[in-house]
Amino acid sequence: MPKIVHYRDRCIGCNICYEMQPEYWRLSRKDGKATLIGSKLKKDTHILDIPLVDVEMSQAVAEHCPVKVIKVFS
Ligand code: SF4
Repeated sequence: MPKIVHYRDRCIGCNICYEMQPEYWRLSRKDGKATLIGSKLKKDTHILDIPLVDVEMSQAVAEHCPVKVIKVFS
């Protein structure tokens, strides 16, 4: 199954991911970083299974992240 992986520690909270894909992202009020909604924490990464239909948009989000802390595996 395709996955989004978020290296949250290095997120700078620019909000682009939320603007592009609000169904998957929100900005934390606690620390100002993006949170991948529904993801599971494994070691230092947040991982979320996504349906095939969302891969293309998720890849676009990953490309737009200025610090490249989003990866999509399909
Ligand atoms: S686009 Fe990247 S840096 Fe910006 S809030 Fe999302 S994960 Fe963080």
